[in-house]
Formats: sequence, C-alpha cells, structure tokens
Amino acid sequence: MNTQDIIRLSNITPLEHQMHDSGIVHVVSCSGGKDSTASILRSRELGIQARYVFADVGNEHQLTYEYLDYLEDRLCITIERIKPDFSEWMAKRRAWVREVGPRRGYTPAMVERIVSHLKPTGIPFLDLCLIKGFFPSTKRKFCTQFLKQVPINTLVTEPLLEADREVWSWQGVRREESAARATASHFEASRDGWEGFFIYRPIVEWTTDEVFAMHRRHAVKPNPLYSLGMTRVGCMPCVNTRKEELYQIQKQFPEVIDRIAKWERLVMLCSKKGVTTFFHARTIPNRGGGDTRSHIRNAAKWSKTDRYGQYDMLKAMEAPAECASQYGLCE
Ligand code: SF4
Repeated sequence: MNTQDIIRLSNITPLEHQMHDSGIVHVVSCSGGKDSTASILRSRELGIQARYVFADVGNEHQLTYEYLDYLEDRLCITIERIKPDFSEWMAKRRAWVREVGPRRGYTPAMVERIVSHLKPTGIPFLDLCLIKGFFPSTKRKFCTQFLKQVPINTLVTEPLLEADREVWSWQGVRREESAARATASHFEASRDGWEGFFIYRPIVEWTTDEVFAMHRRHAVKPNPLYSLGMTRVGCMPCVNTRKEELYQIQKQFPEVIDRIAKWERLVMLCSKKGVTTFFHARTIPNRGGGDTRSHIRNAAKWSKTDRYGQYDMLKAMEAPAECASQYGLCE
C-alpha cells in the first residue's frame, strides 16, 4: 500500500498527512466555542501534538471559563491562558494626557478626571477601553487585535518563529458563518509576510451539524451557553451582539448588564468628552437621547421591543426556556 492509499483509507487529506512533520508546531486557538472545540477534537483525531491557547480578555462568561476546565479534564490537555497586561501602556497614556493633553484641547478638569480614573483593573477588555476612552465597534474593532492577536503572537508565535520552528495556526473558521468568511481558504501562508507561519482552517467547509456531530462522536458536551440561547461564544456581550441575543443575555444574565453599565461609567470618566457607550451610539434606532441613547440599560430595554420599537409584553413575560438554543441541542 502506498502513501496515497493510506491517506485515502484513513480519511485524511494530503495536507493533514503533511502536518505530521516533526518540524511543525501546531497552535490551536480555543475560545470555548463549538468551532474551536471541533478544531481541538480534529487535532486529537489526527494524533497531532498541539499547543492549545485561549486569549483571556476578561469579558467572557464564567460558564466559558468552566467549560475550558472541563475540556482540559475531559481530553487530558492543557489550554494555555494568555492574558495581556496593559498597565505599562496605561501609565504612558496617563503621562500623555498630563503632558500633551492640554495642547490637544484637554481642559485642566478633563486631565484631572482622566488621570485620576485611569488605573489598571486587571481586566484586559476594560483596561484597553479605559486607555482608548471608548469601546470597540465594527468600524473601530481594536479588541480582537490587542486582546487576542497581539498577545498570542507575542507570547507564542514569535518565540517559535525565532527558534526557527514552522508554525501552523489552527482557526475554527467556517465558510457558512458569514459572507466575510465565505471565501476563507483551508490553508494559506501568513499575510503578514512571516516566513514559516501558516493559517490552517481544519473545519472551513463544515456545517453547524457537522460541528456538533464531532462533539457527539467524542462524547464532549458543547459549551452550555448554546443551550441558553447564545449563538456564539466569546465576549459576553460582544460589541456586535444582535438584538435577539442581547434579549437572551439581559433575561438570563442580568448581572452582565450591571457589569457593562459599571464599565460604561468607568470608560466615560476616562474619555475626553465624558461620553461613551458599550454598543455603538446608533445601535438603538434614533428616537432622541443623544450620544447616550444606546447605553447598555437602554439597549437591554430595547431588546425587549418589537421591530416598531413597541414594548413586547408577550416576549417580556416568556418563562425562561429550558433550552433556548437555536441549534436544538436538547433534541
Ligand atoms: S468577541 Fe467581540 S468584543 Fe470580544 S474581542 Fe471579539 S469582536 Fe471584540
């Protein structure tokens, strides 16, 4: 039997055959979501010795942290938690506000307000927003870059490349997820021009059903957040959270709304204008209220309305569902 026969009979692609080269280090990104879990399981099926990394932004739900512990126990793996520390950057920002701020239109009161509140909290997502003075949005999506890409590159990828290792970064991206991902390739060289760095998307052609089938095949439970109505796992909430998902969050996890309201107050104190909201200012259709109309508490109330903005009594009275999952996980 030749190599091609072995590959065909063992249901692995030529690319998956090549990945066993001992010079390659496989780095699998784990978010605690279904797609990255399927990627972990695929690496296990292929017998790959990988490094599993999780970028801890400090805005994930507690159930996700517990789920990562569960995966470690269930699969006998270690998931490295990468947590960026922005205290140095924050100190530079304080110095900038003091020294350069007055020349850029910051009044003495603004300087005093910002400098006295710009203190590290140890929560990466919040600290980054305090430094910026606003929250990320679709247009200003700095969160993924500074909270995930840069820390993983700095602490994992770059040291490996400097040690002359070839790195395959596994990403649980699927084409059916969105138009932006519809053309994602299975395997490609780094777009940053890094020699020896490749992006590998093991489940790029998979459907949602195949992803959950992978969980069942390995007797691994999906993150329980799916059964509670969440369609994606990552930040809770993500700045791109849709209205229906926000409705589920405010209903099932009101403490998340309280936490974000607190974060909004802190970030406002560190912003030049003294105004900012977690969701984009125009998240709620314009019915007055200025820059703060999309404040998290207003957004949570808006999530209970119908598309004409009317309070949806039936929706608000719904009993918490046993399984609100849009994936029918309890079928
Ligand atoms: S999940 Fe959303 S808010 Fe969190 S880092 Fe990613 S894009 Fe930003």
